[in-house]
Amino acid sequence: MLNVITIPVTPYQQNCRILVDDCANDAVCVDPGGDIPSILAALPAKALLSAIWITHSHIDHVSGVNALIGACDSPLHVVAHADDEINRKFLPQQANMMQFEYSGAFNVSQTVDHHDVVSVGDHEFQVLHTPGHAIGHVSLFLANTDNLYNAPMLLAGDALFQGSIGRTDLPGGNHQQLIASIQNELFCLPEQTVVCPGHGPNTTIGHEKKTNPFF
Ligand SMILES: [Zn+2]
Repeated sequence: MLNVITIPVTPYQQNCRILVDDCANDAVCVDPGGDIPSILAALPAKALLSAIWITHSHIDHVSGVNALIGACDSPLHVVAHADDEINRKFLPQQANMMQFEYSGAFNVSQTVDHHDVVSVGDHEFQVLHTPGHAIGHVSLFLANTDNLYNAPMLLAGDALFQGSIGRTDLPGGNHQQLIASIQNELFCLPEQTVVCPGHGPNTTIGHEKKTNPFF
């Protein structure tokens, strides 16, 4: 079973998530935006954190990466799309602009691209490149329903929200590209797929196809 623990962090209430494969006791942290003590407190005692997955490198999603690496005894893989290097370069400026506590620069140890696979235990997530909110934005799809939601699930970052989509007015943003990413890569997923967005409540692909005002 894959457990999913959601921890809203920072003043932006960004949904950091811990994924725990109960059998392997392997765990991954997705988008550690900050508040590292709360993230560590939510990590089950038996679980070994092995990686950090980054949907995109805006400050509210990655501000705590360096601090989390520093807080763990064993080395963590840091997984992200190469195209977001441009955003990672300007993290200090992003932090200044948004008055954010930034825990410092970090290295991406594994770059991923469209249709790559990343795993926690034996749960394989397919990487979907979904640019538009950020140029190197990825969404991560798990077809295996042996998880908390008993349904396929999608870590949607800031591409798709309940009743909304990501903003596209930040550097590298592109509204048409985001609409195309959602239509071509996300709306073809099974309707019952639980969408876990970077901010706000979960939704499903079927619900958003029917009700999202941007489509
Ligand atoms: Zn963002």
